[in-house]
Amino acid sequence: VTFDAADLHPVMKDNVRLLGYAKPTPVQTYSIPIVTSGKDLMACAQTGSGKTAAFLIPTLSNLFKHGKEWAQPRPAPYEQRQFKAEPLVLILAPTRELCSQIFDECRKFTYRSMLRPCAVYGGADSLSQLRQLERGCDILAAAPGRLMDFIERGKIGLGRVRYLVLDEADRMLDMGFESVIRAIVEKKGCNVDRQTLMFSATFPRAIRKLARDFLKPDYLFLK
Ligand code: AMP
Repeated sequence: VTFDAADLHPVMKDNVRLLGYAKPTPVQTYSIPIVTSGKDLMACAQTGSGKTAAFLIPTLSNLFKHGKEWAQPRPAPYEQRQFKAEPLVLILAPTRELCSQIFDECRKFTYRSMLRPCAVYGGADSLSQLRQLERGCDILAAAPGRLMDFIERGKIGLGRVRYLVLDEADRMLDMGFESVIRAIVEKKGCNVDRQTLMFSATFPRAIRKLARDFLKPDYLFLK
């Protein structure tokens, strides 16, 4: 299996080649066709398996195809301070380190595209994160607490989310984020007409329950 054979936008194929990824890892081999087919996904994936690219490659490739119809217009400079960022891809991740790793990978995959990635997480200056959001935000890697804070301040809206990704879902639950994640997904206007992808290293009851609540009933399970 190769990236060239996959149903990906040519810009994404170029970016993958520039990154020097010769062939997809197993989790990528299975997730790319599932995501491009439009199905929800629950995938078992450890760190180091290439899971970040497994969700970024197919979701961002689809944004390259549809970006112009889906994207929020960029705010003019005089509108920036009132701007509410409405990302098309929302990735929830447990820690600031993971959010910034995802953000770095997003930057590589969005090279030579019009898409802007952003990252928000606690333990860092919120003003500089806000300034980033105000220049436009198509893809957002977010830790739950800081994201909720920005939603409540009217700085981020979830009505345009096309792809919701929960990365390291088991770790987010271990860290006590279940109620804030549920509030973000179920009570803060997150677009219901979206595709949802969950990645987790383990599958305790709470994760299976979350999958039943967040994913469409015909979701695929990748072990
Ligand atoms: P992750 O499991 O997402 O933390 O990724 C682990 C590392 O593998 C990252 O540094 C990626 O840049 C790298 N990587 C991901 N996919 C591939 C691939 N298909 N070929 C080579 N390296 C990859």
